[in-house]
Amino acid sequence: MKKIVYMIFILFIFSGCDNTVKDKSIEGANFPSSTSIENSYDHDEKTPLNQEKTKIEDIELDEYDINMKRDLLCLKMAYPEYVSYFERDAKGEVYLVMTSGNKILYDDRLSKTYNQKLANADLQDTMEMLYPLGNISELMEDNYDPGRFRCYAFLKEVYGGSRQQIENYLEGVSIGGKVCSFNNRNNASAALKQVAAQMKILGQSNNIVRQNIFPVNGTYNYRVIAGTNQLSPHAFAIAIDFKSDKRDYWKWASRELGQQRLGEYPREAVEILEENNFIWGGKWAHFDILHFEYRPELIIKARYYVEDFEMEGSWYYGFPTEDERVKSYIETIDRI
Ligand SMILES: [Zn+2]
Repeated sequence: MKKIVYMIFILFIFSGCDNTVKDKSIEGANFPSSTSIENSYDHDEKTPLNQEKTKIEDIELDEYDINMKRDLLCLKMAYPEYVSYFERDAKGEVYLVMTSGNKILYDDRLSKTYNQKLANADLQDTMEMLYPLGNISELMEDNYDPGRFRCYAFLKEVYGGSRQQIENYLEGVSIGGKVCSFNNRNNASAALKQVAAQMKILGQSNNIVRQNIFPVNGTYNYRVIAGTNQLSPHAFAIAIDFKSDKRDYWKWASRELGQQRLGEYPREAVEILEENNFIWGGKWAHFDILHFEYRPELIIKARYYVEDFEMEGSWYYGFPTEDERVKSYIETIDRI
């Protein structure tokens, strides 16, 4: 599908049309900007048209491949005990082979609407929108919801495939004077313990944090997301809702009220959670300000993302290659 979008794009370029083609993946969002064909490709006016086309197609394939490899590296770094290795089948499709032996397709290559991605995201869909690690002062716009798409096959592999299995993995974590159940797989409960300890220290000297964060509203709850058939991340015990405010959720409050609440929310607390691999629902256009979710792959992608990395040589530019494990993961991915 992407190929078709690019071909249309190429036609626009050569017909001199000003219209821009919306990237189906971003759905109108303008954060962050990505390298466009124009500035990643140095036009040579003397090159015949068909050669230009071939070059642009090559760049497109390279870009897809680079992005895929970076996503796979993030997934391997974030779930080292669960993602075993990668495999490419005869058709060229790439799979994650999980420790259980089950295989999960990276990209189904279907063109999906926003709602279709919510219901049935593959791993590529879940990682497409870059999570903004820095502070934000405005609510996100245009369906920019990094982390709101989830790949259920993957979550079930890591955190439990049934209610009973998930409940076997629950561990009580004491946070803000309450004991909360959290999944003990892939370091999720360990990360929450770390958050609890850091939050306790911060809360001692910071009233605003204490008043806005505690008491915790909830963690584990085997339920679907309101108005959908999809399991909530709370059902996997990898999400935490802190103190509730009626302006917290896009279904409860206008954008204006959400914006007001966003402005008041203690960023020191957000930083602690992000440091420990939790993403914040305050950074979603469909805002969910009390909600944080353990998604190490998205935090890792955000942490090592470098603008224009395609221009810097290797596909893993920006990643910590001094780390021996990361180095070995890169070698694994290069063999796909
Ligand atoms: Zn929540």
